[in-house]
Amino acid sequence: MERVYNFSAGPSMLPLEVLEKAQAEMLCYGESGMSVMEMSHRSKDFMDILAGAEASLRKLMNIPDNYKVLFMQGGASTQFAAVPLNLLSERKCADYIVSGQFSKKAATEAKKYADVAIAASSGGANTTFSTIPETTRADFRPDADYVHICFNNTIYGTKFHYIPDTGNIPLVADMSSCILSEPIDVSKFALIYAGAQKNVAPAGVTIVIVRSDLIGNADPKTPAMLDYKLMAENDSMYNTPPCWCIYMAKLVFDWLLSIGGLEEMKRRNERKASLLYDYLDDQHYYTTNVDKKCRSLMNVVFFTGDAELDAKFAKEAAAAGLKNLKGHRSVGGMRASIYNCMPYEGVEKLVKFMKKFAEDNPKLTL
Ligand code: PMP
Repeated sequence: MERVYNFSAGPSMLPLEVLEKAQAEMLCYGESGMSVMEMSHRSKDFMDILAGAEASLRKLMNIPDNYKVLFMQGGASTQFAAVPLNLLSERKCADYIVSGQFSKKAATEAKKYADVAIAASSGGANTTFSTIPETTRADFRPDADYVHICFNNTIYGTKFHYIPDTGNIPLVADMSSCILSEPIDVSKFALIYAGAQKNVAPAGVTIVIVRSDLIGNADPKTPAMLDYKLMAENDSMYNTPPCWCIYMAKLVFDWLLSIGGLEEMKRRNERKASLLYDYLDDQHYYTTNVDKKCRSLMNVVFFTGDAELDAKFAKEAAAAGLKNLKGHRSVGGMRASIYNCMPYEGVEKLVKFMKKFAEDNPKLTL
């Protein structure tokens, strides 16, 4: 069977070159005589993979020296708890900007440990999350231990096009669905975390980039596995790390470096997203409810306006090799996740399919 264009919100496409390299090294990695899957995490081969993954990520994202890079487990959802457990002071107060389901979940988890204030929300009464709230310093409590945002809202197709000014309050960002999609200034954030399964690797590893001075004050009840200090002191190997995922992440980082890094990735992503958004703006068959200035580069949500037609679209698209276009169950419609490894040709094929579908399925107008 031919490989399809997979528009899944995650796990999602990986670069073909990376899959082929992993395939070539699957049975025997280098001179080790074994697969990375079978290798001791304390072996020199694996330690080199881990150190190489960190070095490549640092280079790609231009991560300053005063930040630690941790490879953790439990997905981004586990960071919803790890962040408050590690960053709260005795004041135990944290501010959250709620711009979608994941930031809402993060705030709900933090409420177990902190006095949480919703500094801003784009949910409102109708909870459509179709925009990103504008904020100023005045929106945050001066004594908050941190401010948390979700930089790209996977479900609703919105992203922050600005970095909130939080003054001296550490800014924490969930970048699960946009990490490595374009350059960002890491120094503007106190902590960035991201599950791997969109732009980095198979599911199973979570990247945490945290300013060193914020490490070491975890709540004494913090599980060892969530304690950033323990993780940093043990080079992310307090226990057995997700070796295969870290190996795959390294291959993806190296692939990104080989194509020209995040500037080039941004250029490719913008070209892909423009193709789809320009088409959406240029016709009347499909609608999109997302505020134009908050559009995501990674997740594009659109509707026919008729649930049956939406279902037909997703089914016929899948049969044409365009898989996983059904929107999130809470939103409906369609969602095209066009992460780093979705080729331009995949989006071209999608737009062509959308045009044909609109022609073949006219909507009744009264
Ligand atoms: N944050 C965002 C922005 C996400 O898109 C997701 C998953 N889709 C999560 C958090 C949860 O990630 P995980 O499944 O790795 O816990």
